[in-house]
Formats: sequence, C-alpha cells, structure tokens
Amino acid sequence: MENNKNTFENSEITVTFAPKKCINADKCAKGLSEVFRTTVLPWIDLEAASTQKIITQINKCPSGALEFCHKQIEAPVT
Ligand code: SF4
Repeated sequence: MENNKNTFENSEITVTFAPKKCINADKCAKGLSEVFRTTVLPWIDLEAASTQKIITQINKCPSGALEFCHKQIEAPVT
C-alpha cells in the first residue's frame, strides 16, 4: 500500500525513501529487484517479498535513503 509518494507500507512495517539522500548505487534494485523496481511506479512494492528480506535489504542501503519502522501491533480486545 502506498499513502504518499515516498512512504510505503505493508501490514508490518512502514518504509520511507528520501530521494535527496539516494546516491543511486542501485544496491536495493540489484539485491531485491521484486521489491525495489526500476521500471514500475510505485517503485517499491512491499508485498513482493517477506518483511524480513525487505528489512535486510534496507539495512544495506549505503546512503540511508531507505529507512523503515515497525508498526505498532495492537493488543486484541479481550
Ligand atoms: S540502496 Fe539506497 S542509495 Fe542505493 S539506490 Fe537504493 S535507496 Fe538509493
């Protein structure tokens, strides 16, 4: 799901992309091309791989342009 041009979400995490920080090293597109796509908009598809794989790839971003945070999981109402 996309709610803003540079903010992307799945059920577990929110990912942000800061274009001004990106140094175009292409590490994300080469490392996890099904999520970080160079020819399709929106260019990030968080449904295309597991959250753990996405986090691992984001942690390899050399510029810090990609960041993520975990969503709060609400406790079930009892
Ligand atoms: S890995 Fe980071 S710096 Fe490299 S292209 Fe992707 S967002 Fe930009």
